Amino acid sequence: IHRNQGETEFHQAVREVLESVGPVLAKHPEYAENKIIERICEPERQITFRIPWEDDNGEVHINRGFRVEFNSALGPYKGGLRFHPSVYQGIVKFLGFEQVFKNALTGLPIGGGKGGADFDPKGRSDSEIMRFCQSFMTELHRHLGEYTDVPAGDIGVGGREVGYLFGQYKRITNRYESGVLTGKNLPFGGARVRTEATGYGCAFFVDEMLRARGTSFSGKRAVVSGSGNVAIYTMEKVHQLGGVVVACSDSSGYIHDPNGIDVELVRQLKEVERERISAYTERRPGAKYLEGQRVWEVPCEVAMPSATQNEINGRDAETLVANGCVAVGEGANMPTTPEGVRAFRSAGIAFGPGKAANAGGVATSALEMQQNASRDSWSFEFTEKRLQEIMRDVHARCHDTAEQYGMPGDYVAGANIAGFTRVADAMLELGLI
Ligand code: NDP
Repeated sequence: IHRNQGETEFHQAVREVLESVGPVLAKHPEYAENKIIERICEPERQITFRIPWEDDNGEVHINRGFRVEFNSALGPYKGGLRFHPSVYQGIVKFLGFEQVFKNALTGLPIGGGKGGADFDPKGRSDSEIMRFCQSFMTELHRHLGEYTDVPAGDIGVGGREVGYLFGQYKRITNRYESGVLTGKNLPFGGARVRTEATGYGCAFFVDEMLRARGTSFSGKRAVVSGSGNVAIYTMEKVHQLGGVVVACSDSSGYIHDPNGIDVELVRQLKEVERERISAYTERRPGAKYLEGQRVWEVPCEVAMPSATQNEINGRDAETLVANGCVAVGEGANMPTTPEGVRAFRSAGIAFGPGKAANAGGVATSALEMQQNASRDSWSFEFTEKRLQEIMRDVHARCHDTAEQYGMPGDYVAGANIAGFTRVADAMLELGLI
C-alpha cells in the first residue's frame, strides 16, 4: 500500500484478487518462489502526460493523460481509454489490473492495460472533442502499435472518439495500421458486433449462470444501471433472451418503465441526440423519472450494473436480495463494493464478477484485431456466434475452476483463480520479466 499511496480503487481490486488466490499459492509453491504476486501487482510501464488543447472560445485547457501497460505475458497490452473527470492513476491502475485477468479468461492472446484522461466530454462540441483526441494521441502514439499496445473505448470514449484518435495516429505515423485501436467504426476497419459486444456478452454470461441453476431469463425483470454503450446493448440482448428491463439510469437519476424499457428510444437519445436519460419520459409518458434516486430500489430478479465502479454498496445489495434478486451480472468494472459482494455471496445468489461477465467487449476487440491482421471482415451472425461461444467458455472456466477448488457456484473465486493461473504460468515460462 505504501508504494501506491492514495490509489484506493487499485488497492480494492488487488485485495479482491489476492483474497481468492490463497489456495492456488498453496498448490503451486513455484509462484511464491518466483515472486509472481509482487511482479503481477507492479505494472510493466506507466505513462503520464500533458494534454494541452483549445476550446471553441480560444481558451487553453491542460488535462492529464495516462496509459498503464500492466502485463504483456499473454500478448500486446489491451484495454480501453476512459475520458471522465474522475480519472487519476488509481482508477487507471485498478482498471488495468482487472484487465490482465479478464483478458486471460477469454483464452485469447492479449495482455492487459488501460488508459484515459481526466477530461470531461460532457457538453463539449464535436470539434472540441476532436481537438482533445488529437492532442491526446499526439503523445500517446509513440507508445502504441498492433504488436505493442492496442487501446479501445471505455467511459466517454466511443466510436466517434476512436475515429479521431485513429485519424491522428495515422497522420502522425503515416501508417494505416488498423490493428492499433479497436472499437473502430465500420468504415475504417471496425468489426461488426464490437459496439454491442460488452452488453451482449454480459447478457449471455447471466443466461449461462441462470441455466446452470436450471432457470432462464424468461419472464424475469431486470434492472440495468447506466445508459451508455454497455447498458444499451445489455438491455437489447436481455429482451431478446426473454427478460424485461424495467429501469435504467445515468449519473443524474433513473427511469422506471414497468412495461419494459424502449431500448431503441434510449439508443436514439444517448447515441444520436446525446441527451440526458430524463428526456425518455417526455416521449414515453407511462414511464417515471426519479431524479437523484438509486436504481437498485426497483424490484427485479436480475441486476446488471453497467455504469461505473462502486455503484452498488452493501445496502443496495441487501435491498436487491430482499426484493428477490437471484442473479447479478457486472457489465461495468468493479461496480460492487466489497460489502456488496459479501452480501450477494452470503445470500448465495448467482454473482458474475466484471472480469468474467463483461469480458465479451475485449474478446470481440481481439476478434477485431484478427480481422484487421488478415484484412478480413466477418458477418454480424458469425461474429455474434463467436462471442457467444467465448462467453460460454468464460462461464465454464469460472464455474469449473470454482468446483475444482471446492467452492462450487463461486464465480468470483473461479474467475480470479482461472485468470491468475493463466497469466502466472506464462510469466514463469518467460523467465524473470
Ligand atoms: P459510457 O460512457 O458509454 O456510459 C457510461 C454510463 O454510465 C453513462 O450512462 C453514465 O452516465 C454512467 N456513469 C458514468 N460514470 C458515472 C458515475 N460516476 N456515476 C453514475 N453514473 C455514471 O461507458 P461504457 O458503457 O463504455 O462503460 C460503462 C462501464 O462498463 C464502465 O465501468 C466500463 O469500464 C465498463 N466496460 C466497458 C466496456 C466497453 O466495451 N465499453 C468493456 C468492459 C467494461 P452520465 O452520462 O450521466 O455520465
